[in-house]
Amino acid sequence: MSKSNIDSKDASADRDLYSGLIRLHVLHHAVHGPIFGLGMIEELAHHGYRISPGSLYPLLQGLEKKGYLRSSEQRDGKSLRRVYRATPLGRRALAASKSKVRELFHELIEGD
Ligand SMILES: [Zn+2]
Repeated sequence: MSKSNIDSKDASADRDLYSGLIRLHVLHHAVHGPIFGLGMIEELAHHGYRISPGSLYPLLQGLEKKGYLRSSEQRDGKSLRRVYRATPLGRRALAASKSKVRELFHELIEGD
Protein backbone atom coordinates (compact mmCIF):
# COMPACT_ATOMS: atom_id res chain seq x y z
CA MET A 1 0.00 0.00 0.00
CA SER A 2 1.40 3.41 -0.95
CA LYS A 3 1.78 6.17 1.57
CA SER A 4 -0.91 8.29 -0.10
CA ASN A 5 -3.40 5.43 0.32
CA ILE A 6 -2.67 5.30 4.02
CA ASP A 7 -3.04 9.06 4.30
CA SER A 8 -6.40 9.16 2.57
CA LYS A 9 -7.62 6.22 4.65
CA ASP A 10 -6.64 8.03 7.82
CA ALA A 11 -8.24 11.25 6.62
CA SER A 12 -11.56 9.53 6.02
CA ALA A 13 -11.41 7.83 9.42
CA ASP A 14 -10.73 11.19 11.05
CA ARG A 15 -13.65 12.75 9.23
CA ASP A 16 -16.06 10.84 11.47
CA LEU A 17 -14.34 12.35 14.45
CA TYR A 18 -14.34 15.85 13.02
CA SER A 19 -17.74 15.87 11.36
CA GLY A 20 -19.40 17.56 14.33
CA LEU A 21 -16.70 20.24 14.39
CA ILE A 22 -17.15 20.77 10.66
CA ARG A 23 -20.93 21.13 11.14
CA LEU A 24 -20.42 23.70 13.90
CA HIS A 25 -17.89 25.51 11.75
CA VAL A 26 -20.30 25.63 8.81
CA LEU A 27 -23.11 26.82 11.08
CA HIS A 28 -20.86 29.50 12.56
CA HIS A 29 -20.15 30.96 9.13
CA ALA A 30 -23.78 30.65 8.03
CA VAL A 31 -24.79 32.73 11.07
CA HIS A 32 -22.41 35.50 9.99
CA GLY A 33 -23.41 35.58 6.33
CA PRO A 34 -24.57 33.51 3.39
CA ILE A 35 -22.28 30.59 2.53
CA PHE A 36 -21.98 28.35 -0.50
CA GLY A 37 -20.41 24.96 -1.05
CA LEU A 38 -17.14 25.79 -2.82
CA GLY A 39 -16.44 28.80 -0.62
CA MET A 40 -16.96 26.66 2.46
CA ILE A 41 -14.62 23.96 1.09
CA GLU A 42 -11.90 26.62 0.74
CA GLU A 43 -12.64 28.05 4.18
CA LEU A 44 -12.42 24.60 5.78
CA ALA A 45 -9.19 23.90 3.87
CA HIS A 46 -7.66 27.01 5.51
CA HIS A 47 -8.45 25.39 8.84
CA GLY A 48 -6.84 22.11 7.77
CA TYR A 49 -9.98 20.16 6.95
CA ARG A 50 -9.93 18.53 3.54
CA ILE A 51 -13.49 17.89 2.55
CA SER A 52 -14.76 17.03 -0.92
CA PRO A 53 -17.91 18.39 -2.55
CA GLY A 54 -19.28 14.85 -2.31
CA SER A 55 -19.01 15.08 1.49
CA LEU A 56 -19.84 18.74 2.02
CA TYR A 57 -23.02 18.96 -0.05
CA PRO A 58 -24.79 16.14 1.80
CA LEU A 59 -23.64 17.75 5.07
CA LEU A 60 -25.20 21.09 4.02
CA GLN A 61 -28.37 19.32 2.93
CA GLY A 62 -28.49 17.46 6.23
CA LEU A 63 -28.23 20.73 8.17
CA GLU A 64 -31.00 22.18 6.03
CA LYS A 65 -33.18 19.12 6.60
CA LYS A 66 -32.74 19.53 10.35
CA GLY A 67 -33.87 23.15 10.02
CA TYR A 68 -30.53 24.77 10.94
CA LEU A 69 -29.91 26.20 7.47
CA ARG A 70 -32.12 27.46 4.69
CA SER A 71 -30.94 27.59 1.10
CA SER A 72 -31.91 29.56 -1.95
CA GLU A 73 -30.61 29.81 -5.49
CA GLN A 74 -28.62 32.90 -6.33
CA ARG A 75 -27.45 33.96 -9.75
CA ASP A 76 -23.67 34.11 -10.06
CA GLY A 77 -22.87 35.37 -13.54
CA LYS A 78 -24.37 32.81 -15.86
CA SER A 79 -24.73 30.04 -13.33
CA LEU A 80 -26.96 29.52 -10.35
CA ARG A 81 -25.38 29.01 -6.97
CA ARG A 82 -27.11 27.57 -3.93
CA VAL A 83 -26.46 29.73 -0.89
CA TYR A 84 -27.19 28.79 2.71
CA ARG A 85 -28.08 30.93 5.67
CA ALA A 86 -28.60 30.00 9.29
CA THR A 87 -32.21 29.89 10.50
CA PRO A 88 -33.24 31.11 13.97
CA LEU A 89 -33.11 27.44 15.04
CA GLY A 90 -29.56 27.19 13.66
CA ARG A 91 -28.53 30.33 15.56
CA ARG A 92 -29.94 28.93 18.78
CA ALA A 93 -28.28 25.55 18.22
CA LEU A 94 -24.92 27.23 17.64
CA ALA A 95 -25.31 29.41 20.73
CA ALA A 96 -26.18 26.33 22.79
CA SER A 97 -23.13 24.47 21.48
CA LYS A 98 -20.76 27.21 22.60
CA SER A 99 -20.77 26.29 26.26
CA LYS A 100 -20.13 22.64 25.32
CA VAL A 101 -17.30 23.59 22.98
CA ARG A 102 -15.82 25.86 25.66
CA GLU A 103 -15.92 23.07 28.19
CA LEU A 104 -14.30 20.62 25.77
CA PHE A 105 -11.68 23.21 24.91
CA HIS A 106 -10.79 23.62 28.58
CA GLU A 107 -10.46 19.89 29.05
CA LEU A 108 -8.53 19.21 25.83
CA ILE A 109 -6.26 22.24 25.75
CA GLU A 110 -6.04 23.55 29.26
CA GLY A 111 -6.61 20.28 31.11
CA ASP A 112 -4.36 18.45 33.61
ZN1 LIG B 1 -13.78 29.46 9.58
